[in-house]
Amino acid sequence: MDVVLMPGDGIGSEITSATRKVLEALDRSFSLGLKFSNEDVGFTSLEKHGATITPELIERVRKADLAILGPVDTAHYPPADKGGINPSAALRINLDLYANVRPSKVFEGLPSAVANMDLVIVRENTEGFYADRTMYAGTGEVMPTPDLALATRKVTRQGSYRVAAYAARLADKRRGHLTIVHKANVLKLSDGLFLSEAEKAAATQGGLEVREEHVDAMASLLVRTPEAFDVIVTTNMFGDILSNEAAELAGGLGLSGSLNVGDENAIAQASHGSAPDIAGKNIANPVSLLLSTALLLEWKGAKAGRNDLQKAANRLNLVIAEMLKSPNTRTTDLGGTLSCSDFGSILVEKL
Ligand code: NAD
Repeated sequence: MDVVLMPGDGIGSEITSATRKVLEALDRSFSLGLKFSNEDVGFTSLEKHGATITPELIERVRKADLAILGPVDTAHYPPADKGGINPSAALRINLDLYANVRPSKVFEGLPSAVANMDLVIVRENTEGFYADRTMYAGTGEVMPTPDLALATRKVTRQGSYRVAAYAARLADKRRGHLTIVHKANVLKLSDGLFLSEAEKAAATQGGLEVREEHVDAMASLLVRTPEAFDVIVTTNMFGDILSNEAAELAGGLGLSGSLNVGDENAIAQASHGSAPDIAGKNIANPVSLLLSTALLLEWKGAKAGRNDLQKAANRLNLVIAEMLKSPNTRTTDLGGTLSCSDFGSILVEKL
């Protein structure tokens, strides 16, 4: 199995290095047959190849069995015509990774704002308000005059259906509840289309309990009754915001994994950014990227019919949860004393 690791910017190399060691340990324990290579994205790629991601790397990732992307410091990239391409967006669009799967759950022994949460937000990943990736040519944002800026939001029938179908299958494998989140009371055409396609997709998965919520109500309900939700499906920007809210309520962004999934490919990606303020200090928490990696192993295990990958993912999730229980085996952001590399080394020993 060919594993491509793309460390990215800022803390990316620290958390990716810990993740690689953990995967090597799982490879030894479960005889997974993994073969690793590290590839440049972000500023290292810009320096070597003149662009933060190259078409060759996108093709390399397309063919890889497992792909892991560290965070990228897009806010500091030069403009696209000077090589500053958002690697995350380029991979999502080129590989058609239409579902962003973001679980949030409360970990035993860790402080959290809510007592009980175990849900997954499935966010549409290729459309919506993300102006840099929604158009064949040009962008979804224009400025006709210095005093007027317009953003176009893209919602397609096919894009809405397929992400909802993915969420419905996931809900079927979990507790059987699906919540469709939208704003169709105001955005009657665009969110109306999303809602009707999502309802159609949900109906094909017999036995699901399906409910719908307006996005503003959903923001409150996540705080008030988080235990009532299992799988939530929504459009791109609503999902981006709600998944950060859910992660924070469950204990913090550093604890939530994220997987970008399409029909053929998937990429594990931490849900946080490149944290330039702590880069190079070896204090980053690698848990988000590690949990994302567990999601990737589960995805590949199901796709390739490989039970060993599923077992490796279960073991990884279990040991991370064990380590998070005690402050002695946590990184400093969670009240512990461990560095990023020490967290990785102890995890490797426990695996
Ligand atoms: P950020 O997530 O990088 O950092 C926010 C805060 O959280 C900082 O104080 C940081 O130190 C802390 N933090 C983040 N990850 C941490 C970790 N693993 N361990 C401990 N602390 C952690 O958000 P930002 O500062 O707004 O963005 C920095 C850059 O990252 C920007 O260029 C932004 O565009 C980019 N970004 C990338 C992604 C991605 O690659 N998926 C996601 C969000 C932001």
